[in-house]
Amino acid sequence: MFATMQGRTAIVTGANRGIGRGIAARFSAAGMNVLVAARSQADAERAAREIGGSCSGVAADVTDPKSMQAMATSALERYGAIDVLCANAGIFPRARVDEMTASDFDAMTDVNLKGTFLSVQACLPAMKAQRQGRIVIIGSITGTTGGYPGYAHYGASKAGQLGFMRCTAIELAPWRITVNAVLPGNVRTEHQSDEKSAYQEKKLRMSALRRLATVDDIANGALFLASHEAGAITGHALIVDGGQSLPESPSAVDEAWAAAGSA
Ligand code: NDP
Repeated sequence: MFATMQGRTAIVTGANRGIGRGIAARFSAAGMNVLVAARSQADAERAAREIGGSCSGVAADVTDPKSMQAMATSALERYGAIDVLCANAGIFPRARVDEMTASDFDAMTDVNLKGTFLSVQACLPAMKAQRQGRIVIIGSITGTTGGYPGYAHYGASKAGQLGFMRCTAIELAPWRITVNAVLPGNVRTEHQSDEKSAYQEKKLRMSALRRLATVDDIANGALFLASHEAGAITGHALIVDGGQSLPESPSAVDEAWAAAGSA
């Protein structure tokens, strides 16, 4: 049913671990050439080697314009094209708004928002020359469908990504470059704390499907938005969260599951 992705080239930022690594692995399994971009060259190379297939690693800091340009040049030199950019790199240190410093705020927006802009901008010359491209931004439900204490700067950066997405989706449409986002809910990754795991158990009970999205779920959403079949979709934010952000109150989920006889 789906056209092959074999031989297409993707760059994934922040791909040495977590969701980015899962996306790189999913793209690779679909037959794509994948440039695994990470802050450290050693981490990038290790992840690329472990993923296998037609993958290679490159050192790339999304806050540095020169580094982003070098990343795009590496993709062109190694694979001859940039068909897909997945702007995934992100940070989420917590700070209450009354204690947050200006540098906390700047650090968050530098990586999550400016980093999205710089990675997209670096890939545009190649995508425009090809007159096609797929940009997939990894956002979050935080700041876009709801909020959480301690994440005002994170939520602002994630909401900002969607404003950026909508404007670039229009601006780049004449080149048949689509710009979309995947908005994950809470996703278990390999590096999370026990505190976060306990929190996720609670969230799971409150999610409509009573399951949280996995790294693979997010990767599948990204792969779909990167596919030929998603060619008429642009400026869209795809929520992948097991229905975590759906209920209007926690009792909505309990009631639905109790009525189904499986509470
Ligand atoms: P991780 O902390 O596991 O991974 C983050 C990745 O981003 C790492 O590879 C990290 O590199 C990289 N990174 C950080 N700063 C930079 C930078 N300046 N330049 C390049 N790369 C950088 O996070 P997740 O996998 O959980 O998150 C990935 C994305 O998904 C983020 O955008 C996040 O906001 C989003 N998300 C995650 C959710 C979750 O529950 N996990 C929920 C909703 C959204 P390094 O290893 O060098 O630090």
